[in-house]
Amino acid sequence: MRNMRKGIPVSPGVTVGKAYCIDEIFVNPHTHQLAENEVLPELRRFEQAREQTAADLRALDHKVSTQVGPAHAAIFRAHEAILRDPAFTAKVRSWIVDHRETAQSALHRILNEYTSLFARTRDEYLRERLTDVRDVIIRLSSHLSPALEPGSTVVPKPTVVVAHELLPSHAVALGDCEVAAIVTQTGGQTSHAAILARSRGIPAVSGVKDILRQVKNGDTIVVDGRTGHVIINPDAETESAYRKLQREFFQLKDVLAYNRDQPARMGDGEEVELLANINSPDDARAANAVGAAGVGLYRTEYLFLTHADVPDEEEQYRAYREVVQASPGHRVTIRTLDLGGDKTIPYLGHSREANPFLGWRSIRLSFEHPEFFMTQIRAVLRAGAAARRGQVRLMFPMITTLEEIRRVRSLVRKAGQQLERAGKRHTEVPIGLMLEVPAAAVCIDSLVREVDFVSIGSNDLVQYLMAADRDNPKVSHLCQPLAPAMLRVLAQVIEACRRADKPVTLCGEMAGQPRAYVLLLGMGLRSFSMSPAFIPTIKELTGHVSAAQAQQILRRAMQFRTTHDVMRFMGRTIAELAPNLKPLDME
Ligand code: PEP
Ligand code: MG
Repeated sequence: MRNMRKGIPVSPGVTVGKAYCIDEIFVNPHTHQLAENEVLPELRRFEQAREQTAADLRALDHKVSTQVGPAHAAIFRAHEAILRDPAFTAKVRSWIVDHRETAQSALHRILNEYTSLFARTRDEYLRERLTDVRDVIIRLSSHLSPALEPGSTVVPKPTVVVAHELLPSHAVALGDCEVAAIVTQTGGQTSHAAILARSRGIPAVSGVKDILRQVKNGDTIVVDGRTGHVIINPDAETESAYRKLQREFFQLKDVLAYNRDQPARMGDGEEVELLANINSPDDARAANAVGAAGVGLYRTEYLFLTHADVPDEEEQYRAYREVVQASPGHRVTIRTLDLGGDKTIPYLGHSREANPFLGWRSIRLSFEHPEFFMTQIRAVLRAGAAARRGQVRLMFPMITTLEEIRRVRSLVRKAGQQLERAGKRHTEVPIGLMLEVPAAAVCIDSLVREVDFVSIGSNDLVQYLMAADRDNPKVSHLCQPLAPAMLRVLAQVIEACRRADKPVTLCGEMAGQPRAYVLLLGMGLRSFSMSPAFIPTIKELTGHVSAAQAQQILRRAMQFRTTHDVMRFMGRTIAELAPNLKPLDME
């Protein structure tokens, strides 16, 4: 089919909707020259857009301040400062007046100019600000093209957002838009857009190269989040076939809501723990709403990424306590900052590295900033006192060696002593390692002895094991959790934890994928943490399989020697085990 494109399926479900391209500015800037008498009206249009953008930002500031807390809204105040920057506005005006360009085109030029300028500067802080400038320009641009205005009645419905990538500010603005599906040009299974789509239960496809060149606002667009297919302006027959699938998807989601208050039990009655991955107190509430047994991964970096300056111990303590109080059963595994790679904050002095995922990221970065790290640990120990002992756990990402665990343990001890001396209420917390580096997997029998629990971060483990960037669509065929190599490693790690009698959870995205989930059950894993939106499906699937069946399925899957064969076999197996879940199974 000529109008069919294939990307990476990142969030299951099917949608037939209308395209809404949120950053067309980069692809199709208006280039026509203004006539003499058009210059003044264009300047006025720009001023109006600026006022509307400022109003948007103030509304977002207010919304986020009241719903999440003022510290989280600082980013929008920073964006307003960019918008009000006289040098920035003077540049736009000059392009309109001196060069007779449209405001849209001027913004496009300025963005290009900043992009090359920032690429050359050595000032890391400035370079990081490019994302903010880009965000402001996109927002401004949306007001210059009325069809792009978020929340306006001209946004086509049901809205399928088509974007180069999804920025954090889009995510907030889109909250009001009832997004029915998301398609992005970049990114993979674990990029920000994918995680966001999954946490909202919205079908999504990533890595569809150049889609913005082929689709325009208002086009009918089919998004199949199970297979990764995107069809633009389908013929009547195709559209009606996908509409049928879409109805099935909605019906299934409604049906599954029934299991919210029931425990997840296998066919033979054995209980399985289904926990939620969260980024914020709102997500913790979503975890409650779907009947999660607790929070298995709280990614604290989002607190830092949405904060204009550094959250101090008091702010962090309050944020963590809020999450603890909002989480099911007050059970939360808090992960310390996992920055670096694709997530950076300016004040830690990040330098551009040739291989950011192999460089100064995560726990390595935390060790370099011991005071900063200790502040976070103290805040967690204090938040732990808001729950019963042992319910709040502390987890360290990207542990590679035994020395790192020892160092972490000593820092936690020291943080406890500091709080003791300061007379601040706190508690002891279980300490865990995130298993995401192959070296740690190889030595897991040795590392596991020195921690209280293990959580497998399969998103990173698979990228490091397969040497394939998790966000790069070009190598997504390699970055596959069902690769035979990955299955072997997972089975070994789970077995080592069982032998050491240490609790083990898997909190990567594969936990929420039916095909992978059944194999993990077969390996003996009984604790999983996933995007809240997946919990109802996985709970339902649990009841369709017994331990013995899962083991047998695993034995057969391990005999296949290619990822493709494992995938095909598991696709068939899920269809047989739980035919009712087909609309939610991802390829
Ligand atoms: C992982 O790596 O599997 C994980 C859960 O952490 P993140 O996706 O935040 O790196
Ligand atoms: Mg990780």
